[in-house]
Amino acid sequence: MPAPLPYLDPSLAVAERVADLLARMTLPEKVGQMLQLNARDGVRHLVEDMHAGSILHASPERVLEATALVEKTRLRIPLLVAEDCIHGHSFWSGATIFPTQLGMAASWDPELVERVARVTAVEVAATGIHWTFSPVLCIARDLRWGRVSETFGEDPFLIGEFASAMVRGYQGDGLADPTAILATAKHFAGYSETQGGRDASEADLSPRKLRSWFLPPFERVAREGCRTFMLGYQSMDGVPITVNSWLLDDVLRGEWGYTGTLVTDWDNVGRMVWEQRVHVDYASASAAAVKAGNDMVMTTPGFFEGAQDAVTKGMLDESDIDQAVRRILTLKFELGLFEQPRHPDPDRQAAVIGCGPHAAVNLEIARRSLVLLRNDGTLPFADPQQKGKTVAVVGPNADDQHAQLGDWAGASGQTEWLPDGHPRELTQTVLDGVRAAVPEGWTVTTARGADILTVGPDPEGEFFPDGQPRPHVVHPCAPDPAMIAEAVALAETADYVVAVVGDHIELVGEGKSTATLELIGGQVALLDALAATGTPLIVVLMSSKPLVLPPSALNAAAIIFAANPGMRGGQAIGELLLGGIEPTGRLPISFAQHSGQQPTYYNQVRGQHGSRYADLSQRPAFAFGQGLSYTTVDYTDLRIEQTEVTAADTLRATVTLHNTGTRPALETVQVYVSDTITSATWADKELKAYTQVHVAPGERRDVTVELPVASCTFVNAAGVRVVEPGAFELLVGTSSRDEDLLRADFNVSASVRG
Ligand code: BGC
Repeated sequence: MPAPLPYLDPSLAVAERVADLLARMTLPEKVGQMLQLNARDGVRHLVEDMHAGSILHASPERVLEATALVEKTRLRIPLLVAEDCIHGHSFWSGATIFPTQLGMAASWDPELVERVARVTAVEVAATGIHWTFSPVLCIARDLRWGRVSETFGEDPFLIGEFASAMVRGYQGDGLADPTAILATAKHFAGYSETQGGRDASEADLSPRKLRSWFLPPFERVAREGCRTFMLGYQSMDGVPITVNSWLLDDVLRGEWGYTGTLVTDWDNVGRMVWEQRVHVDYASASAAAVKAGNDMVMTTPGFFEGAQDAVTKGMLDESDIDQAVRRILTLKFELGLFEQPRHPDPDRQAAVIGCGPHAAVNLEIARRSLVLLRNDGTLPFADPQQKGKTVAVVGPNADDQHAQLGDWAGASGQTEWLPDGHPRELTQTVLDGVRAAVPEGWTVTTARGADILTVGPDPEGEFFPDGQPRPHVVHPCAPDPAMIAEAVALAETADYVVAVVGDHIELVGEGKSTATLELIGGQVALLDALAATGTPLIVVLMSSKPLVLPPSALNAAAIIFAANPGMRGGQAIGELLLGGIEPTGRLPISFAQHSGQQPTYYNQVRGQHGSRYADLSQRPAFAFGQGLSYTTVDYTDLRIEQTEVTAADTLRATVTLHNTGTRPALETVQVYVSDTITSATWADKELKAYTQVHVAPGERRDVTVELPVASCTFVNAAGVRVVEPGAFELLVGTSSRDEDLLRADFNVSASVRG
């Protein structure tokens, strides 16, 4: 029997196998290997003619077809199959769909989020998909942006904690683990700093700003071994991100020593020609993209000819292409795809997808994702054993599975094979959840009460110039007096009215930023009318992002924020209303009082001229970190063990917590640092640590937090992250608001104590 070709010999080192295979590849095969193409319109051409290295958005049938086609190619290089499985296996019918990243972030529990990612990986890996485009590390700073729900919120430290956890969950015990999938840190970097909230606009970011807030979460996962990074869409200082070689080459691969693979975002290379217009043709754009360090080029079919032209014309050296191909092949060998291509496995799918243990993790994160923002004592519903109470569950999102699952799930529009979304019975809506949670003898009534929107075609045309469909344009519905009257009639005869309002998937996602943040359609009129009945009103804001609430909601008996809480969200909300669980979520992002206040994130840089507009303060409606329990926990007596420290020390501080109520609390003890004087302007406070502790009713307990002084950094005017000696304050408490924090001074001296 002839010896296997070296690249097919698993006993050889990966580098040797890569070198052997690369030497056998023609230029078109190499360029094709760099292509990640859309499987929507068929895969034969992509595999046979374009030698694609990767496909995305492939329906289950297309995955099977594509992998079979690869078997017949000359070199049989396995495909990397990629999909946006960003809060569960988004487009696999019946998969476990979790809360969106924003909802998960409200748990402030990275260990739980790691388990969520693990579950996702197990489901995804059974379906022949090797790569998820998750997590999103963008910082959500302008709430009008359409992609806030995909983020972990507004704080870089918290984002880093969650991103790291999610990458660990996806990549499991290493790529050789058959349940591991490739994680993607995206969108590198600064994409979320939109102008006016507009998607993919020029981001006004200096290298210092990037280093201050946008890069740290990416640096963390790069150093921890996240295997792929995806670029954003924006340009900065005139340079499209795709060709920002400072960021890609100097910082990512240079400073951070990243050896993973870099994928562009959707047609970034083509867009430099037809949309941003900084390159005259595909040869020039392709050459620039390869030289800047991109490895995989997403959905730019023109790259196939463009990159070959660039080599022919001497604009690009074949060795530049080799470098990218080497990285892609390395990934494929490390995943073991040449030996075990990880094809879809129907038995495994039947065993793991949507299975009971996965639903249990989903329920756990759904419960932890809910944030109680206001409660006048109405919640939990008094004495649930009492017979004969009536709960009216109203509002357009009360019984709407799509609003509950949010973007990137089933019917959210990114793929065509699940037009109606996931099977309805897998999602428990709020109406379902309340019905299941009320004691026997209680009555649950329901009416929709208001519509949110209708959609129509974009007057600018059905398609963008690249053939991609333009999202529909949203038309808010007018309040409907008959619908409102029906809901009001139910509220009048109920003991409680639960109004589930918010946004809907047509208002969420790419190209779907919103100019306003108000509840649109008939929702405000509905809330006003419900409030006027005098029946205790519980507002559940089920939305993709913080919205501006009208006075009738702000003054309601209670407000719960449910950021697209996933398939088990309705059950969790029912349990919360009835007191079956405690509210534990804390806001990972601030709420505005008015859209004109944007941005409202808490860690803004100190300025001049105070903190208000002539007609409104700058104070957010609800601030980062806020969230109530069904009890009150007092914080007293913050003391620092050693207040004179150096950057080499660890600060130890203790605070006393006292649960003064009758219900247990899971308290999120938040630790911020304020650097009193900085050599360049800086945020007044930044979250540096936190810990979650259970405090039983009546219990008094000391909580000690440890903080390496080396983390009390800021970025100086030269763009270097340093600890500047001098006076600092430690702030410990329940939210980022000054009035919720105890303060204690410490001093960092320059010299290391002997
Ligand atoms: C989005 C990415 C996504 C990619 C593939 C892009 O438009 O910005 O987040 O991963 O499409 O679907």
